[in-house]
Amino acid sequence: MMTSVIGAMERIPRVPLATLPTPLHEARRLRDALGGPDRCPRILLKRDDLTGLALGGNKARKLEFLVTDALRGGATVLVTTGGVQSNHARMTAAAGRMVGLPTSLVLSAAPGEREVQGNLLLDRLLGAEITFVEPPRDPMKLTGPDEAAALAELEARLRARGERPYLVPLGGSTPLGVLGYVAGALELEGQLEAAGARPERLYVACGSRGTAAGLVLGARLAGAPYAVRGVAVSGGDPASTAFAVEIANGTAELLGSHARLTPDDFETDQSQIGPGYGRSTPASLEAIELLALTEGVLLDPVYTAKAMAGLVADIRAGAIDPATTVVFVHTGGQAALFAHAAELAVATGRVGGRDGSAR
Ligand SMILES: *Cc1c(COP(=O)(O)O)cnc(C)c1O
Repeated sequence: MMTSVIGAMERIPRVPLATLPTPLHEARRLRDALGGPDRCPRILLKRDDLTGLALGGNKARKLEFLVTDALRGGATVLVTTGGVQSNHARMTAAAGRMVGLPTSLVLSAAPGEREVQGNLLLDRLLGAEITFVEPPRDPMKLTGPDEAAALAELEARLRARGERPYLVPLGGSTPLGVLGYVAGALELEGQLEAAGARPERLYVACGSRGTAAGLVLGARLAGAPYAVRGVAVSGGDPASTAFAVEIANGTAELLGSHARLTPDDFETDQSQIGPGYGRSTPASLEAIELLALTEGVLLDPVYTAKAMAGLVADIRAGAIDPATTVVFVHTGGQAALFAHAAELAVATGRVGGRDGSAR
């Protein structure tokens, strides 16, 4: 099955945007800090924060397929949407520049949240045109009420200017984008085999769900030994899981595979969302500090901090056999750290107070 999947994947065109393969790193000091081999499984970090593309992250894998589709359709401008600190928006703008296309963004943010910092600063540097809309009224949601209308208006405005806009949907989570993470799962499988590792679980942050959809489908197609455990960073289940199933099955079709997934294939931990999308929790702040101090690895405040908090909680609860191996997919997002500087300073007492002093 694996060779036929690789063959089908190779027949689908993609422009190289990401630096691949990303490293697989064993987090020994993190394991020690969580109780050592008697209490904590072996933890492998899949470093998809190192994909490159203007500071890296998971969206690079999806954009390789999406941007190719845009180019083949003769697009003259990329259009996408997200929150004000959207990593996806920043990486879409960078991907556009790599192939010579400008990007127009619809970003949701309250007027007080539009500080030119983190991803928004990079969007500006990359020359993206930005339209702001109000944020979702429900903090559990990824998208605001005005976003669809703003996108439609933007597309009409661009067409009136003679442009051919290509819409990259939220998070790049379409069957085509999901291919990026089927490829990611196959890449990981090769690395695990070379390392002689047979992990029981894989942890990954879940937002728009394309990453989990690709990893679950890719694991199925590769006959991988692990179960994918998604950690939700926003609300919306069970609809979000139904969406993941739908796009994953669309991807299977693109690959000419008869594999079909069901909601039972998607296990999503809902316990780390806290007060909402983009809002920190004590556990997410602790996770950021833990990875920085044990491994010198920077998590992001919105996604990977909550996913790591989910893994740490499972380890502390004794829910994972310490004789086993787990994979944690680091999906990137560190640019947003700078937009959360005040919160991080208070939480750690170390990241420089207003006067830059350390604990
Ligand atoms: C977008 C994003 C995710 C979530 O990926 P989805 O495919 O949207 O579920 C996780 N981590 C980071 C850093 C992201 O930017």
